[in-house]
Amino acid sequence: MASVSISSQLNKAVRQQYMSLPQGGKSQVTYIWIDGTGEGLRNKTRTLDQEPSTILDIPEWNFDGSSTYQAEGSNSDMYLVPVRMFRDPFTHDPNKLVLCEVLKYNRLPAVILCIYLETNHRRRCSEVMEKVKEHCMWFGMEQEYTLLGIDGHPYSWPLNGFPGPQGPYYCGVGADNAYGRDVVECHYKACLYAGINIYGTNAEVMPSQWEFQVGPCEGIEMGDQLWVARFLLHRVCEDFGVVATLDPKPMKGNWNGAGCHTNVSTKQMREEDGLQFIEKAIEKLGQNHAAHIRSYDPRGGKDNMRRLTGLHETSNISDFSAGVANRGASIRIPRQVGQERKGYFEDRRPAANCDPYAVTAIIAATCLLEPEQEVEKQDTEEEKSN
Ligand code: ADP
Ligand code: MN
Ligand code: MN
Ligand code: MN
Repeated sequence: MASVSISSQLNKAVRQQYMSLPQGGKSQVTYIWIDGTGEGLRNKTRTLDQEPSTILDIPEWNFDGSSTYQAEGSNSDMYLVPVRMFRDPFTHDPNKLVLCEVLKYNRLPAVILCIYLETNHRRRCSEVMEKVKEHCMWFGMEQEYTLLGIDGHPYSWPLNGFPGPQGPYYCGVGADNAYGRDVVECHYKACLYAGINIYGTNAEVMPSQWEFQVGPCEGIEMGDQLWVARFLLHRVCEDFGVVATLDPKPMKGNWNGAGCHTNVSTKQMREEDGLQFIEKAIEKLGQNHAAHIRSYDPRGGKDNMRRLTGLHETSNISDFSAGVANRGASIRIPRQVGQERKGYFEDRRPAANCDPYAVTAIIAATCLLEPEQEVEKQDTEEEKSN
C-alpha cells in the first residue's frame, strides 16, 4: 500500500465550527466519477446558487483526464455528465453528491485503460437494462471489504503475527472479535442520509473484514448506488485514518477472501412458481461460465483466481455449480426460496472489486437476451477510434 496521510488526526472539533456556518442559500455539489483504472473514485466540488431539486438542475462540468488515467493525447478535457444525485452526509443539506459518467472531448464514453475493459460499463449496462426492462430485474449486492491500518496491514492485527484463527469473528461482538465497528456504523448512517438503498451490514469471517448490502435495486440503479456507497465508505475511512480495500484476497492462507455476491430476480421469479425461471436462468449461466468469470473482476478473472479456490465458502474458478443453501457453489438458491418455490438466486462469483455495471449487465444479458439481441460485446468501429 502507498503511504497514507494522517489528516484524520486534524482537530475535528475545530472543523465542526466551520461546518455549522450558514452558507447563504448556496449549495455545494460534489461530482463523483470512476477513474481510468476502473476501480478508483475521484471527486471535486463546486458551488451552485441554489439547491438543485433534480439531477437536471446540475450542469455538466469537466476535469483533466490526463491526471486520472483517462485522457488521450493532447485532448485531456473530459466531460462530467451527472447521472444520479444523493444528499451529502459529510456537509449535510442543502449539499449534494452527484455520480457522473465521463465523456471524452468528442462526447463518446471514456475508455477505461485496463486492457480487459474496452468499453464504458455504465453505457453498455444501461443499454442492456433498457432491453430487459419489462422483466423488472432486481439486484442486491453484498459488498465485502477489509479495513487496513495506515501500516497497510489489516486494521488492528498484531504487527508481527496474526490474530486467532477464524471462527469467532463473523457477526461477532466485543473488542476481541469486532475490529473497526465505528467505520461500519458511520458508513451505514451516511448511506441512509444520502439516500442509498442500504439493506444491512455484518462483520465477516476474517477479523477486520466487513460487509454491507445494497438493494434490491432495479436495473442500472444497482451500479449507481453501489458505486456511491463505495465512495461513502472510502470517505468515512478517510475521516478515521484507515483504508478500505476491495482486494478479493487481501491475506493469503487460511483467511477468507472478499466477494461481492450478487442476488438477482425478475418479476417472473418473484411470482408464484417462479423457481422454474430461476432454474432456467441458472442453466444459461452455466453455459456462459467463462465469460462471466472474465467480467467479475477488473482483471478478467485474474483477481478472482486468488479467491475462488473452492475453499473458504467459495466455488472453484473453473467449475460451475448451483445448489439450494450451498455456499460452496457458484450459484446458491437461498433455502427459503427453495421452500417457497419463488424469489431470487445468488451469484457468489463476483469479486469484491468487481464493476457492478459489468456484473449486472452480463447477468441480465445471459439470463434474458437471445445471443442476437445482445449489445455488441466487441467494439464497434466508432468505439475503436476512441
Ligand atoms: P447472504 O445470506 O447471502 O449473506 P445478505 O442478507 O447478505 O445474504 O444479502 C441479501 C441480498 O439480497 C441483499 O442485498 C438484498 O437486497 C438482496 N435481495 C433480497 N431480495 C431480493 C430479490 N427478490 N431480488 C434481488 N435481490 C434481493
Ligand atoms: Mn451476506
Ligand atoms: Mn458475506
Ligand atoms: Mn451472500
